Amino acid sequence: MARYDVVITGGAIVGSSIAYYLREEGFTGSIALIERDPQFAHAATTLSCASIRQQFSIPENIRLSQFTLGLFRRLTDEFGPDADIGFREGGYLILAGDNGLPILRANHATQMAEGADIVLEDAEQLQKRFSWISTEGISAGAYGRTGEGWFDAHAMLGLFRKALKTKNIDLITAEVTGIERVGNRVTAVTLATGERLEAGTLFNAAGPNAGKVSAMAGLALPVEPRKRNVFVFEAREKFADMPLMVDPSGVYVRPEGSVYITGGAESEDGELAADVNDFNPDWGLFEEVIWPVLATRVPAFEAIKATQAWVGHYDYNALDQNAVIGPHPEVTNFIFANGFSGHGLQQAPAVGKALAELLVHGAYRTIDCSAFGYQRVAEGRAFRELNVI
Ligand SMILES: Cc1cc2nc3c(=O)[nH]c(=O)nc-3n(C[C@H](O)[C@H](O)[C@H](O)COP(=O)(O)OP(=O)(O)OC[C@H]3O[C@@H](n4cnc5c(N)ncnc54)[C@H](O)[C@@H]3O)c2cc1C
Repeated sequence: MARYDVVITGGAIVGSSIAYYLREEGFTGSIALIERDPQFAHAATTLSCASIRQQFSIPENIRLSQFTLGLFRRLTDEFGPDADIGFREGGYLILAGDNGLPILRANHATQMAEGADIVLEDAEQLQKRFSWISTEGISAGAYGRTGEGWFDAHAMLGLFRKALKTKNIDLITAEVTGIERVGNRVTAVTLATGERLEAGTLFNAAGPNAGKVSAMAGLALPVEPRKRNVFVFEAREKFADMPLMVDPSGVYVRPEGSVYITGGAESEDGELAADVNDFNPDWGLFEEVIWPVLATRVPAFEAIKATQAWVGHYDYNALDQNAVIGPHPEVTNFIFANGFSGHGLQQAPAVGKALAELLVHGAYRTIDCSAFGYQRVAEGRAFRELNVI
């Protein structure tokens, strides 16, 4: 039976980032990165909208994104001269009506205190800035002038995975089907092949499947897959200055090359865990929910043509839509990196760095992730992020 100092379950962006930063922090022990779907055909990472923002409601989330932003800005220093993820700093525009205005203002104050470059503008100012917008029902909007935008998720994952190949990490294609524990220690994982790997420390980087992987170790984690539809549409007019705009209804839209992508139509009221095999787009959401919102917010979108759609699953933390990061308080060699609820791609580099520091140096150094710790899950105490898009 093989023995690894570190076993990571899930090899998409979060697992790859943990492995990468462990080596960057000087970890010399053996590492196995286990992934069941090596093409990442069903991973949240590759099915995401690949966007990054500063517009969160809590400072801790802003700091995670700021670390990743810093990485994006020195990508070639980190990954070599050819590194390119097509980062387009197009900004987010989060709109609010009268009801949402106090929260938008409070969030903006938090973001400013963290040094984010966000302007809060009233309807008149927005209309001047964006000629294509209809400000009907809008009191204000928060717009990220820099530090927010979108990129190529496949390219980002590819950079990490390529870098891992030179870092003496065993990339194993297999499914983890069981986790063995002796008292308060995880001791081994079993694979679908029947193989057993002894594990010194186990990281859970299983994305929407993280709740199930935790349960294999007898640990409760309220993370479950939630289905999210993304629609691609064409419009006659091209608005090159369009940011990722979030309507007060929750519907978002942004340019993607010569087309647009849109989503955010799912209601969380009474929503349950999704069937992980369900990748069929719910076209009714586009027709009935999204298109009327788009046509109201951008009159030129009255005439649009949806051409494609895809489905991914959020790694949804049903407790508070925020990440769970760090060791289990009792089973301390089981480490969570889960529950990002729709913003994990942009947080993955920061989380990998933070957890690598924790394992190698015994403490967080660059980004303090203690507020995301598991203790709150054990106590049922929500640490809520209000800007879940
Ligand atoms: C539609 C959509 C839009 C999104 N938009 C954004 C966005 O704009 N910005 C942003 O920051 N985030 C966004 N997200 C969220 C983001 O994609 C996720 O939070 C992030 O990718 C999580 O990364 P991960 O590596 O933890 O999970 P995943 O990418 O899902 O990877 C988990 C991996 O673990 C593997 N795995 C699971 N169980 C096992 C097992 N038992 N054995 C072996 N392997 C296993 C899976 O095969 C998978 O490859 C979006 C998500 C969706 C669905």
